[in-house]
Amino acid sequence: MSLLSRVLEQIRADEVVELTRALVRIPSVYRPGETGANEAEVAAFVESWFRREGLPVEAQEVAPGRPNVLAWVGEKGPGRRCLLLEGHTDVVTEGDPKDWARPPFAAEMAEGRIYGRGAADMKSGLAAAMVALAAFKRAGVTPNGKLVVGALVDEEGGMIGVHHLVKTAAGREVDAAIICEPEENELCLEQRGVVWARIRARGKMAHGAMPEAGANPITALGAMLRYVPALEKRLRRQCGRSRHLKPPTVTPTIIQGPPRGGGAPQSNVIPATAEMLLDVRLTPGIGSEGVQAELEALCRQAEAAAPGVKLEWEAVNAFRLATQVEKSEAVVQAMVHAVREATGRAPRYGGVPGSTDGTILRMELGIPIVTCGPGNRLIPHQVDEYVETKEVVEAARIYVAAAAKYLEA
Ligand SMILES: [Zn+2]
Repeated sequence: MSLLSRVLEQIRADEVVELTRALVRIPSVYRPGETGANEAEVAAFVESWFRREGLPVEAQEVAPGRPNVLAWVGEKGPGRRCLLLEGHTDVVTEGDPKDWARPPFAAEMAEGRIYGRGAADMKSGLAAAMVALAAFKRAGVTPNGKLVVGALVDEEGGMIGVHHLVKTAAGREVDAAIICEPEENELCLEQRGVVWARIRARGKMAHGAMPEAGANPITALGAMLRYVPALEKRLRRQCGRSRHLKPPTVTPTIIQGPPRGGGAPQSNVIPATAEMLLDVRLTPGIGSEGVQAELEALCRQAEAAAPGVKLEWEAVNAFRLATQVEKSEAVVQAMVHAVREATGRAPRYGGVPGSTDGTILRMELGIPIVTCGPGNRLIPHQVDEYVETKEVVEAARIYVAAAAKYLEA
């Protein structure tokens, strides 16, 4: 029997399913200021699961009650690579449980699916990665390199987990990563990027009956809204077409005048300031400077249309550009090989509609990433989230085969 089949043999479908369900049953929505509403409990579960498997584990406290958990087999060394299977332990809010057909944290099963918040995004992907790692240990097969599973915090927020990881020794030694996010087990080599730009318009306060005495920041934002479609077009031209990603979009999501903290709004008062949030989604082909220049130009354009109002912008999030990885990268080749070997079918390709922790790994470490995991890519953050158990087991097998190939176990 080949080494790979020995490891694959250690993956039991019922175990992968039950592990996913156990993870879903631990709510891990991060609610600032609410005691216990964080990743602590699920991270502790992951940590003790790895310990029971006899694997080395490291918990890195990123913020109080919010640890990244890392476990691994093998070692990195000369000629020996380090591969990361990356997942996150937080989930987005379940919203109103009454909107769900099944309770959001009960992990109920029906028709080959597991239902619950995080079933797809991404406790199933994490469970598949955990079992894949344990399978090497159980089979007594040490890869010729280091295979790490990283269960990080705060992917759905400011991504403090991955920002922390890339600054540690454990992060810096990673040569390539598989991001286990829900992509129907397609190989995704491109991810859209996102920049949240807060535009602040400063005008001059005045009486609503005497607008000529003031400078209306709301009017300036109105002018800006008219220029948004043209900006979107320019971004689309600069980014070029992608086979797997929707083109760039610029979407206004918040308008406030006066903004929060800027005093109470009043019917007969032109406020001194107003704010707008633009949710800018990007595809590969534009860098930080290109985006900055476009947003700058947008501000100047709107200023010209609203004399007396000053416009400036700032990014609310750390810049997350779109990412792209070449097919020729060793980790991609390993995944292509792995899909055939683990599933018997040819790989399908896709693209990631949003950004993930992988975006930060790619941008900060410069390493190649492939996003591939179980779950329909459109289901995350919706009510009645689910994952097909078949896909979860398949993902665990793909991860094992990819790790074996990439690390040449
Ligand atoms: Zn996710």
